[in-house]
Amino acid sequence: MRLILYVIVGVVILTLLRSVLEAVGKAFSSAGSPPGAPSAGAPRSQAPQSLKKDPVCGTFVSTATAIQKSKGGETYYFCSAECRDKF
Ligand SMILES: [Zn+2]
Repeated sequence: MRLILYVIVGVVILTLLRSVLEAVGKAFSSAGSPPGAPSAGAPRSQAPQSLKKDPVCGTFVSTATAIQKSKGGETYYFCSAECRDKF
């Protein structure tokens, strides 16, 4: 009754192979999905935004949209070009 043993071993190997292939396929599908598609994975990480104070008028502006100006090794953020020019 060696045949039964071979069948059992074959089924076990096939099951292992299938799980490995599924894991590989999942890794590929999650890596290849378009960024806008909803996925069960972790939420997309975006560049951290922070608020900076406009040194001229005191308005808090987002670093992502503010007008920037470097001065003395520091970066200042302004709500408008007028404030930047006044600075
Ligand atoms: Zn301003």
